[in-house]
Amino acid sequence: MINQDRVVHSFLEYVQISSPTKMEGKFAKHMIVELQNLGFEVTVDDAGEKLGCDTGNVIAKLAGTTGANPILFSCHMDTVSPGIDIKPIIKDGVIYSDGTTILGGDDKAGIAAIIEAIRVIKEENIAHGDIEVVFSIFEEGGLHGAKNLDYSNLHSKHAFVLDSGGDPGQIIVKGPAQDKLDFVVTGRPAHAGVAPEEGISAIMVASEAISKMTLLRIDSETTANIGRIEGGTVTNIVAPECTVKAEARSLDNEKLKKQSDHMVECFKVAAEKFGATVDAKVERMYSAFSVDENDIIVQNVKAACEKIGLKPFTAPSGGGSDTNIFNANGITAVNLGIGERKPHTLEEHLHIVDLVNASKLVLEIIKNYA
Ligand SMILES: [Zn+2]
Repeated sequence: MINQDRVVHSFLEYVQISSPTKMEGKFAKHMIVELQNLGFEVTVDDAGEKLGCDTGNVIAKLAGTTGANPILFSCHMDTVSPGIDIKPIIKDGVIYSDGTTILGGDDKAGIAAIIEAIRVIKEENIAHGDIEVVFSIFEEGGLHGAKNLDYSNLHSKHAFVLDSGGDPGQIIVKGPAQDKLDFVVTGRPAHAGVAPEEGISAIMVASEAISKMTLLRIDSETTANIGRIEGGTVTNIVAPECTVKAEARSLDNEKLKKQSDHMVECFKVAAEKFGATVDAKVERMYSAFSVDENDIIVQNVKAACEKIGLKPFTAPSGGGSDTNIFNANGITAVNLGIGERKPHTLEEHLHIVDLVNASKLVLEIIKNYA
């Protein structure tokens, strides 16, 4: 049986081991020992060296007791800032930080749930197939750990990422693709009072381009945003340069391309109109994924939810997660709700009942696949 006190204790312990992005090493060491104590064979890959992190991804394998197909559970180890010296507080069945940091339930609630389920498997000698676990680095800010994972090492065809803020029972079956767009407009400087007609204002070019753009909510599947604009020096110089940073997302890879092309086109047209030049860079951060509602993985999660009294429901996500990367690498993956509320804010909190339910769900999924 899932032991509430034990899983809460583990969660509190985990969030108190700081693991800001790129400095997951101390926490990784802790998890390696825990996984080894549970009988896992653990390796750390070389993604950390490539990415400038103080550890690589933690990859753990537990040999099955049945011949069932292997399954993969995954969470990320890094947390956003401010996430150093987290002091968790429990109040009325809810875990909060002390208000000066995030809590780190994103994604350590998932890690605690996986570990608790495995403990029960071991304790009660529950039959299971091979279990693979990936605790990734550098997820926040680009899914870099998962992108640099060696997939030839993993044998699972189905992966369960525990990294969504919804209620346990939520199954994320679609995730957006994201493009990062960087524009550098180069105009021509001139004295703004003496000879403004000799200048080309890069700021005006950018403003013309942006004013012609369709932005924010494009359609039910697509969004776009200008996140940062920077340019110019002083008021008496016509601004020679302006940089603009933007993003676009869509659940549909084609729609995303169309939106990004549109944004680039607006800059090109504006630059031409003013006689400026624009350097536009579009980088696909990750591709969209979509798992069919009738896919066996969704059916299996639904069955597991129903067995433990959770109401299963599928949903799309507005954000990227390691789920996108697993799917792009041929592993059918869904992202499961673990109740991480208000992630990335000082108000982040976690209901203990959700932590317990997430643990039960992992346990039930393992049983279902055995
Ligand atoms: Zn997360």
